[in-house]
Amino acid sequence: MRLVFCEDSSKHKIKMCRSVPTVLCLLIAVHLAMSACPDIVSRSQWGASSPRKRTPMPSLPVPFVLIHHTYQPGFCNTSTSCERSMRGMQNYHKNDQKWDDIGYHFCIGGTGQVYEGRGWDVVGTHAPNYNSRSIGICFIGDYTNELPTAEMMEVAKSLIECGVERESIAANYTLLGHRQVRSTECPGNTLFNEIKTWPHWTDLETRPSACPEIVSRAEWGAAPAVSRQMLTSLPAPFVLVHHTVQPGACNTSDSCKTAMRSMQRNHQNIKHWNDIGYQFCIGGTGKVYEGRGWDVVGSHAPNYNSRSTGICFIGDYSTELPTPEMLNAAKSLIACGVELGSISADYKLLGHRQVRTTECPGGALYNEIQTWPHWEALSSST
Ligand SMILES: [Zn+2]
Ligand SMILES: [Zn+2]
Repeated sequence: MRLVFCEDSSKHKIKMCRSVPTVLCLLIAVHLAMSACPDIVSRSQWGASSPRKRTPMPSLPVPFVLIHHTYQPGFCNTSTSCERSMRGMQNYHKNDQKWDDIGYHFCIGGTGQVYEGRGWDVVGTHAPNYNSRSIGICFIGDYTNELPTAEMMEVAKSLIECGVERESIAANYTLLGHRQVRSTECPGNTLFNEIKTWPHWTDLETRPSACPEIVSRAEWGAAPAVSRQMLTSLPAPFVLVHHTVQPGACNTSDSCKTAMRSMQRNHQNIKHWNDIGYQFCIGGTGKVYEGRGWDVVGSHAPNYNSRSTGICFIGDYSTELPTPEMLNAAKSLIACGVELGSISADYKLLGHRQVRTTECPGGALYNEIQTWPHWEALSSST
């Protein structure tokens, strides 16, 4: 044991190792051998295709672990069938949903094997608001009426411990079921009741979230981003408010989705930006649409793109105000960003016109936001 440990170490450590008692070396070796990390079936082993891209987590360790079931594909209990399920999910997520890769970080098959999805320290696509601050673990199968096997549950717990050990997951992480953060049955009633008994599970009802329901990129039919750059320093100190002028106000889900797609086309194809410029937009019914999303650098205000969240109100608010639902949605969204650690608790709220020559966000909306908490009159030196 001592030899193996010492040979693996740097020259400096070999010296140290020789100078410490054998028993200490043995203890260290035993500790290494006792690592919680389960064997993981790698992407190449299950035949994954390459991801379109991989975005590193903006900050580590992440504070959340989210549990999912797949519902479809169903339970698999052989390597062959689980590997096929992984390929099927990846195919669906990349080609139908247009995501960069399979959505989850890891999946667990019926034999208690862990399959590498996106893997550690990469942003996932499994729960809006939480993608850049959580590890998403999926249980392959439908756990509405029955539990995963004991082996599956044990290995999930080991995987979480492993994440803590390698500092990918915070030691004081919060464990959640997917249904706690968006309206879905996932991870199924039976599995959800089970994880409530696991360490670190948290009841969000007793800690109400400010986060509004967000219409995801997939739901409005976004094209993939050309590239995505994460904010390098979180939380962001500024929130910037915009109006779109064009497209004009939208009052139905369909027309707002159309507005989002047209802005994205304009920003990508005419302006040659990587993606729609804003992090979020708000439609006439008070629905929030995901633009670039949390923690991603936007293109909405030079000098502020890498340190702000840009929120657009769809429509022209020069002479009239957005609807009360829209104004409330924006306030909830900002509170949500603070809650998630994406926006600084002492953020400064600005209208676009304060940072560049533009009428945006329109006279009426600009007067309105000056009454909001955190609005700040910028001196010319700021
Ligand atoms: Zn889910
Ligand atoms: Zn603007």
